[in-house]
Amino acid sequence: MKLALVVGHTDLNEGAACQIPFSFLTEYKFNSVLAAQIKMLARERNVICGVFHRDLIGIAKCYKKIEEDFRADYIIELHFNYFKNPEVRGTETLYGNNPLADLLAACVHSQVLAAMDRDVKHDRGIKKITEGGRGYLSLNAATDIPTVIVEPFFGSNLEDVRYALENMNVLADAILEGALLADNPELHRTLATQ
Ligand SMILES: [Zn+2]
Repeated sequence: MKLALVVGHTDLNEGAACQIPFSFLTEYKFNSVLAAQIKMLARERNVICGVFHRDLIGIAKCYKKIEEDFRADYIIELHFNYFKNPEVRGTETLYGNNPLADLLAACVHSQVLAAMDRDVKHDRGIKKITEGGRGYLSLNAATDIPTVIVEPFFGSNLEDVRYALENMNVLADAILEGALLADNPELHRTLATQ
């Protein structure tokens, strides 16, 4: 299996920042480290994992590279959530139009929920993004490759940030496990007979 990881945002525009005292940790910085960790774990599981950045080339060219040069089976773009009310927390996974993207989203989401030790209240679910919605361009840039955006936690919630930092390795493993789960031929056979 070939898995492409895209680090959300860019070095010049790093996305949201975590709550004080972790405000030096932006989406771009946190997810650059998380991507490196997933890549390291992937090696042990015989997954070919490429880490891609949108820096200077933008979303379309980044995904074109993944589609045409790397030829990924699955793409996971890494982000975290943010809201002005610091009490809000939870996990959500976004997907686009590719027919297998919802399966990838469900697999990754279930693993990330467990990694973040979420109860039902903080499960924000998997969400299909329609045109103009958050992440739409990324989710539909490589039309033939199932693509998801993971938002494991809220950077604006201090408890969420602390938990994610303390359990980064578990989170990395969960994201990889989600992709492996989606790639499981047994699962595809079961779905085909339903
Ligand atoms: Zn983001």
